Amino acid sequence: MSRRKNILRKLLASRPEAVLLGCLLPVLVSSGLNLPSIVIRGPVARISARSIRHRDTLYIPAAAVARAYGLVLEEEDGRTFLFGSDRLRLRLEAGSREVGLNGETFTLEQPVDWREGTLIVPIYLALVHLPARVPADRIPPEPPPSDEVRIMLDPGHGGADPGAVGEGNLLEKDIVLEIARTARDLLEAEGYRVFLTREDDRFVSLRNRARTANRLRADLFVSIHANAAGNRQARGTETFYYAPATDPWARAVALLENAPLGMEDPGGAGELPLPPEDNAGDGRRGESIRAAAAVQRRLSAAARSPDRGIKAAEFYVLRHTRMPSILVETGFLSNSQERARLADRGYREAVAEAIARGIRDYLEEGGR
Ligand SMILES: [Zn+2]
Repeated sequence: MSRRKNILRKLLASRPEAVLLGCLLPVLVSSGLNLPSIVIRGPVARISARSIRHRDTLYIPAAAVARAYGLVLEEEDGRTFLFGSDRLRLRLEAGSREVGLNGETFTLEQPVDWREGTLIVPIYLALVHLPARVPADRIPPEPPPSDEVRIMLDPGHGGADPGAVGEGNLLEKDIVLEIARTARDLLEAEGYRVFLTREDDRFVSLRNRARTANRLRADLFVSIHANAAGNRQARGTETFYYAPATDPWARAVALLENAPLGMEDPGGAGELPLPPEDNAGDGRRGESIRAAAAVQRRLSAAARSPDRGIKAAEFYVLRHTRMPSILVETGFLSNSQERARLADRGYREAVAEAIARGIRDYLEEGGR
């Protein structure tokens, strides 16, 4: 009891409504007065939830807490429920007072429970425990309003993963970051909302790239890379969508670009659930093919190098994103001519502009 008081005192300055509720709770529950609708002020949204009298205290639906914190249900087995965002992991177990948050466990006063088919949590989880325990750096950015067109650009590699390395220590991770930033600036100038999976030279797991795009409900995901091949004559640009590999070359490119999976903390963020399969010609895959064609058209026109076309392969980030998604290979660092071009800032700007134009072409054709 004294621990709860301490927590309440700590929250006094920032959360007067929680303290007020804490004082009123015994009265509300015992008197049978109309139960209050609670506003959960999560980091992402303010959610109004009807409270439920249960086990001599107040509960609210777990789904309302998840929404306020920008969490989606990632796994469940009917008893244990894992909610996640790219920065938060919340584990609830029906019938248990133990709650997991980012790998740490704390104990509630009352258990998580079922009520009429709805998973419910003690109100203190939303009003006291989570606000006190979610670190500021775990708070995700607010999702944009739904009328914006949102584009997630994904500069490949970063940090300890340089990607392809060209002679003269020209690194894929640096080239694609600059291209992505320039493409972002161009698209933002046209009124699109653009996000990058990384803003600087850091390692971001493939899993978190896909997860962030899903959480932000991007309308289009574009991963940007540069190629390398054992055959130093190989050159040109190509754009991929997700499907079983078109040919052995496409399969090899996917293997190369999926390699960072080996650097990821295997259990850390949990495995992403797969989006539903869909068929070529309709749904997400059809949209991805249209986006790939639009970007490749602009890119091959700008690149003054062979048009290798659009291809399919099983890239992790394309498989795990829930929106139309493509992966662009902007040229071969293993080819001396293309390496020299990619080392040139003006050329990189031209590539960025081509990608931005291709994205715009796709979106204006009604890709959304
Ligand atoms: Zn790459």
